Order: sequence, then C-alpha cells, then structure tokens
Amino acid sequence: MKVAVIGTGYVGLVAGACFAEHGNEVICVDINPERISQLNEGEVPIYEPGLPEIVNRNRKQERLIFTTSTKEAVERSEVIFIAVGTPQDEDGSADLTHVLAVARDIGTYMNGPKVVVDKSTVPVGTGARVLEVIKSITSHPVEVVSNPEFLKEGAAVEDFLKPDRVVIGVASTAAEEVMKELYAPFVRTNNPILVMDVVSAELTKYAANAMLAARVSFMNEMARLCEAVGADVNHVRVGIGTDSRIGMSFLFSGIGYGGSCFPKDVQALIRTAHDHGVDIRIPVATEEVNRIQKKVIAGKVVKRFGPDLAGRRFAVWGLAFKPRTDDVREAPALTIIKELIDAGAHVAAYDPEAMETFKRTFGENSGVSYVANNYDALAGADALLICTEWSEFRNPDYARVKFLLRNPIIFDGRNILSRTELKKRNFEYYSIGRAAIG
Ligand code: NAD
Repeated sequence: MKVAVIGTGYVGLVAGACFAEHGNEVICVDINPERISQLNEGEVPIYEPGLPEIVNRNRKQERLIFTTSTKEAVERSEVIFIAVGTPQDEDGSADLTHVLAVARDIGTYMNGPKVVVDKSTVPVGTGARVLEVIKSITSHPVEVVSNPEFLKEGAAVEDFLKPDRVVIGVASTAAEEVMKELYAPFVRTNNPILVMDVVSAELTKYAANAMLAARVSFMNEMARLCEAVGADVNHVRVGIGTDSRIGMSFLFSGIGYGGSCFPKDVQALIRTAHDHGVDIRIPVATEEVNRIQKKVIAGKVVKRFGPDLAGRRFAVWGLAFKPRTDDVREAPALTIIKELIDAGAHVAAYDPEAMETFKRTFGENSGVSYVANNYDALAGADALLICTEWSEFRNPDYARVKFLLRNPIIFDGRNILSRTELKKRNFEYYSIGRAAIG
C-alpha cells in the first residue's frame, strides 16, 4: 500500500518505519527541514531502541523516504496518517493547530480518493473537524479514520510491530477494509483489531491514559500512607497486583508520572468532560496527586538538610521521564532540579541519553552541570538523588558511591537500590513508600 505519515516524531517515525518494514511504500513528511536532512543522511533524531536499524534498512531499500513536501506525500499516497504533536493548550485542552494545518494541506493537495487517519491523540470530535476542513477545500472523496497509538517510548518499535490491540474508529466498511489490510501483518498472533465508531476510538485513547495515570497516582498516595503508618509499599504493591482483577502493571510508586502523554492527555480529558458538562473527578484527583508527588523528593531533601541549600551540591542520576528514552517532556527531574536550584543548591546531573534534550528544555542554568558518567556526578556531593530508573543505575558499585559522596546519603525516587546493601554499608537511604534507613 502507498502510505504517507505526516510528522516524524516519536510516533510518526516509528509508524512510518514499521509500515515500511511490512512492505508498504512509505513517505514521511516533517516541516522541520533539519530533521528531514538528518533522516535522509541515515541519522535518527530521537533515541528509541531498534529504530535506527529499521529506519535505515527500509530507507536503503527505498520503501521509506523522507521529505518536507506534504504535496508530494499526499499526491503519492492512498492512506495518509496524521502524526503531528497535540500539545497542551493554555486552557488544558489539546492544541489542534498542527492537526488542522495538516488537514488543510491534505485538502489542498488531494488528487484522488484518500483515507486520512488521525494517529495523533486528539479529543472527541476532531475526526469530524478534520473531515470538514478537507471537504471544504476539495471535492475528491475522503474518509477520516481514528487510529490512536498506544506505543510506549523506549519500547516503541516492539509495541508497534506487536500491538496488544489496534483500535480503529471508522464511518464506513470501505475504510475498515483498508485499515484491516494495512494492519493484518501486525496482528498475526490474533491480537485484535477493534473496530468502532470514530468518537469511541478518540475517547478510548484518553480513557486508557487516564486509567494508567490514575493507577500511578493511586499507588503514590498509598506510598505516602505507607510511610505514615510504617508499611512497605513494595509489599502492598505485590499484595494487590497478584490479584488477577488488579494485575501488576503500572503499580510502581515513585516521583510522579511525566512524559509527552499522561500529563497533557489527563488535562485534555478533563477539558473535554468540562466542555460537555460532565463532572469527572478521578482524572482531576490523578492530576493533583501527581503534582504533589513530583515535589516529594525535594521535600525529603529539605527535611534532611533544611530549607536553605546554599553551598550544597547534589548528584542527580536520570533526567528522562522514564528509562530508554531521551524524552524529558514533563519529566519529574525538571521539577526536582528546579526546586533544588531555587533553594540555592548546585546540581551535577547525568543521564545516558537525555542530557541534550534536558539542557534544551531546562535552559542554560549555572546551577546545573552535566557530567560524562554517573560516578562523575558524585564527587563532593552532599547526596545522590535518583530520578529515572535506568538499568545501569540499579546495581552500582556501592563502595565507590560511598567513597565519592561527601555524605553517604541517597534519595531514591524510583525504589531501585538494594536496601540490604545500603544497610550493610551504613548509607542513609530515603525511598518512596518505605521507612528510611540510617
Ligand atoms: P513529536 O513532537 O515527537 O513529533 C511531532 C512531529 O510533527 C515533529 O517532528 C514536528 O516537526 C512535526 N510537525 C508539526 N507540524 C507539522 C506539519 N504541519 N507538517 C509536518 N510535520 C509537522 O510528537 P509525538 O510524541 O510523536 O506525538 C505525536 C502524537 O502522537 C501526539 O498527539 C501524541 O499525543 C501522540 N502519541 C504520542 C506517544 C508518545 O509516546 N510520544 C504515544 C502515543 C500517542
């Protein structure tokens, strides 16, 4: 099939590469010319495991091409995916500027019948708006389909190639057939293609993210309660997660969720409900709990060292909102480092992939220095803070950590270190939802 993907970010690039991997002819478009030149030179501008291999293999076989020309992409393709960003607008709603600009471009360049697929996360009713915009410009037949994306950054290629399910919101059987044909190679192990109306598909994406975010916030509240009553959140997590009605996923407590999806999607869902006069409270509470949780670690630091951190130095391991990505959008590390610097401290930060993106987002700040490896951050630091659970931080050389730190104090925002080791070596250790050591 001839496929266009508009937007080559975390979703568009993965989708384009994976459709090409299954033999489709894919043309990917981005308005960012630098990104397109990088891709044409074989460089993948984002960190996503497995992506460079699949992009470059398909590029060399000319099944995957990159351009800044939406016109070329629309003219050459039968199916056009919209995968541009839908950031949070000032009022919490999803900003549809990019999606609607793409819809206008599609309408302008259509040269025959097309299926247009909303893969961006868009609020209920956007499919209808996209259709209206295209139809106001062209008389060529067009169908608009909703096909929300559920991939996880860090495992995006794997998730896209082997999805738990594919959700398709359609208004006609003709569009349903096109989408089923395109996705058939991805669901060979009988994972379902769920066909529904466009509005239900649009809402499914927000409901999924709000549910997952709610589980995280629920566990973070339980963690605070555990600390107050002397329980261990890890025991509670396993105790409830082994109940088959609950399951183990998304039950880790920590320093709050971040990323490009949960924060903005929960907000957008609240906004949609508000616009439709529906009082939904769980997403509101989820958001509120998350805001509090992002401040928990800095709060523990202040409790330990006092509110004035002038002259103090802290090592931070992990800047990305989660491991295996360079994405720092809404990362808890942004909030935590800002709080430390505002209180007068200096921060030495390390992340295996996200230091450049963090610098760009956080801005140049004399309060933060970026170091070449995790141990370099420790020299002379008053304490270590762990903000992202990268595998390489899980089993450090504890003797070396103790030797380099000014004080053997660790604030573990992800509960990844061994309490037994830390106790044995006389560390002072603060984690989430468990009693402090030392
Ligand atoms: P992103 O910001 O990484 O990428 C968006 C890309 O679109 C950018 O490269 C930008 O230059 C390009 N773009 C913007 N306007 C354009 C235009 N008019 N024409 C061509 N290109 C244009 O975004 P992302 O993380 O890939 O997310 C895309 C959508 O998918 C969002 O709606 C997001 O909520 C959703 N989503 C994201 C994830 C995720 O894990 N990142 C998962 C599921 C769904």
